[in-house]
Amino acid sequence: MRRGDLVVAPFMWSDGVCDYCREGLTTSCEHGGFWGSVGHDGGQGEAVRVPFADGTLVGLPKEAASDEHLLSALLTLSDVLGTGHHAALGAGTRPGATVAVVGDGAVGLCAVLAAKRLGAERIIALGRHQVRTDIARRFGATDVVAERGEAAVEAVRELTRGQGAHAVVEAVGTEQSMRTAIEITRDGGAIGFVGVPHGSGTGVDLGVMFDRNIALRGGVAPVRAYIPDLLPDVLDGTIDPSPVFDMTVGIEGVPDGYKAMDERTALKVLVTNG
Ligand SMILES: [Zn+2]
Repeated sequence: MRRGDLVVAPFMWSDGVCDYCREGLTTSCEHGGFWGSVGHDGGQGEAVRVPFADGTLVGLPKEAASDEHLLSALLTLSDVLGTGHHAALGAGTRPGATVAVVGDGAVGLCAVLAAKRLGAERIIALGRHQVRTDIARRFGATDVVAERGEAAVEAVRELTRGQGAHAVVEAVGTEQSMRTAIEITRDGGAIGFVGVPHGSGTGVDLGVMFDRNIALRGGVAPVRAYIPDLLPDVLDGTIDPSPVFDMTVGIEGVPDGYKAMDERTALKVLVTNG
């Protein structure tokens, strides 16, 4: 990387050379870490120091700097698009598959986009907020299920001849959402989980998963490893994840941005330095 380069940074830094990085699991880098962890500055400032710039950053075409729409699409490569892609891969998405996505946040929506990109034939988005499920449809969802809990499970089963989806993305992280994900997975299918687990219970029932041969894969997404794969499709417009940003603030507006996301009045907030 050189001074003046336009770059995208994933949400963790990594050296790019250790065993884990070479295997594509950059989030387990032996010398890596999170922006904003103790002793390092966060990423939401006018400047940020990048440990291992060559291993962490990915260069973008200079012309993109003057294209605000493209810039917002490219920014999703730093986290939500790569995380949605990780979930779709973990769920075993393949051409022709039926995919269900639990969660209508930016990651869930990007998982819809990623599943479509990977060739899913049918994509069922579970979500209650119409603004968000409308984006899911733009991203490739063929069906939307607005119900929750047992009613959502029934609705998905009705759409899938009682079987459930081959590939299920869990992008919420609650006991309830994992329970729903397991119940809507077809026997022999898999769940890609990227919702950060929170709350006391996991919702994982190994007995059910054993009986029905359901696999569970996922975790923190090594988005750095996915950027080279996803970047060309964003640059040429094959996929346009930019609609996940529905609010823009300057540096001084960052607290308002967090408040809006906390109150769910914003899906994802773009911070500009101008
Ligand atoms: Zn490494």
